Amino acid sequence: MTHDAELGEDGKIVVPDHVTAAVRTLIEWAGDDPAREGLRDTPKRVARAWKEYCQGYAEDPSVHLSRTFEEVGGYDEIVLLRDIPFQSHCEHHMAPITGKASIAYLPKDRVVGISKLARVLNGYARRLQVQERLTAEVAQCIWDHLQPQGVAVVIDAQHGCMTGRGVRTPGVGMVTSRLLGCFLHDQLSRKEVLSLMGY
Ligand SMILES: [Zn+2]
Repeated sequence: MTHDAELGEDGKIVVPDHVTAAVRTLIEWAGDDPAREGLRDTPKRVARAWKEYCQGYAEDPSVHLSRTFEEVGGYDEIVLLRDIPFQSHCEHHMAPITGKASIAYLPKDRVVGISKLARVLNGYARRLQVQERLTAEVAQCIWDHLQPQGVAVVIDAQHGCMTGRGVRTPGVGMVTSRLLGCFLHDQLSRKEVLSLMGY
């Protein structure tokens, strides 16, 4: 299966007919008329939007960690990127998951440019997800590719499938965490990283 979208002459993603037909079916199922003017171009827009929401399938997030710096000037403290906003979609309802992530690691001898951590997050967030797996995948990717002393990832997010349907509870956030290495095994390190994150 290829994930790289084909571009048309107008520079936009080419949407196959069966994809627009599927969106039209969904509009009809929802109770509206896909032929009315305001909805006429919607199937194509929806299709292109979904390619963008799910861009992560076309990339391997670990590539962002391939360029590391070994010269860290003796720095051996926690590196933390806090409150990175992100959007994902839940695999159960394809509804938006919006929230923020805090990502930290304790380097052993390699660091990466700080923006790379956010790129790893987005590489996994731009897929159909469950929050628990997203948290674990980001942590594991950093653990495997930077081989640090510890990794901590905490994600606080709201789920559209909870706030907009079902029990309809806006404002309720779900918090998940994944701690590896020293942050898992050493209580002091764990306390330190969680308090730096504001938890
Ligand atoms: Zn859901």
